[in-house]
Amino acid sequence: MILTCPVCQAGNSAPNQCRRCKADLSLVWNLELQRQSLFGQVRVCLAEKNYPRALNLLAELAQLRSDVEVDKLTAAVRLLAGDFAGAYLGRPRE
Ligand SMILES: [Zn+2]
Repeated sequence: MILTCPVCQAGNSAPNQCRRCKADLSLVWNLELQRQSLFGQVRVCLAEKNYPRALNLLAELAQLRSDVEVDKLTAAVRLLAGDFAGAYLGRPRE
């Protein structure tokens, strides 16, 4: 996993401290690990066709950090669940 430092924008592959500016990245790193775990749980739900649980996990993911990946996966799960209107994202993020 590569984590972009919120202070200096350097890419970091090791936890806890930015390799360039030495900022403490432990909280951000833990959030990203939590997100990866939630993405894994979403994949399990999709394999089991448990779309309501997958959508709940995606809402948790969006609360941690919402991004295009979460938006697209949420739309795809809504399509799989038959919620075609809910799958519409409107204008895409830039
Ligand atoms: Zn940095």
